[in-house]
Amino acid sequence: MVQAIDILVSNDEIRLEGVSGLYATEPWGLKEQAEFKNACIEISTSLEPEGLLEACLETEARLDRTRDVRWGPRTIDLDILAMEDVAIDIDGLTIPHSRLHERAFALVPMADLAPDLKIEGQSVSELLKKQDRSGVKQIAAPGEWIEISGNRA
Ligand code: ADP
Ligand code: MG
Repeated sequence: MVQAIDILVSNDEIRLEGVSGLYATEPWGLKEQAEFKNACIEISTSLEPEGLLEACLETEARLDRTRDVRWGPRTIDLDILAMEDVAIDIDGLTIPHSRLHERAFALVPMADLAPDLKIEGQSVSELLKKQDRSGVKQIAAPGEWIEISGNRA
């Protein structure tokens, strides 16, 4: 995950603004597999949504992400959860992410960074209140698992 963030923000058009805590989470969708780790970052970017998705997919490819089993084990998964003032639903790209509102593992780290951010009218913390967050455990606090310094910031 640290490598993914490094690769992503090595792009001149992406600047890292914040990093959430690191969480261990129960698998979603396909239950019979090891736990996942999840975190959320905040960036500023001059890229359009399509360009940002491309940067995410390229980063996954550089870390040998393969897509075999849907919702199965993977080395890395980079999703765009939300972008300020962007609502887009085209083939291959939906922002805000279509399953964000039902995924405690995404809402919990997102709430570290942007609890008041509105997703289709409801804040991240309001969305989180409706979710069972018992399967999402913090294993490192924001700032304790990745250093935001040097060329990363
Ligand atoms: P998931 O993230 O749901 O586990 P994948 O990572 O395999 O699944 O994503 C499959 C496709 O989802 C990507 O190739 C991308 O085109 C598409 N996609 C649609 N919306 C988004 C988004 N907001 N962020 C990232 N990928 C997205
Ligand atoms: Mg993905």
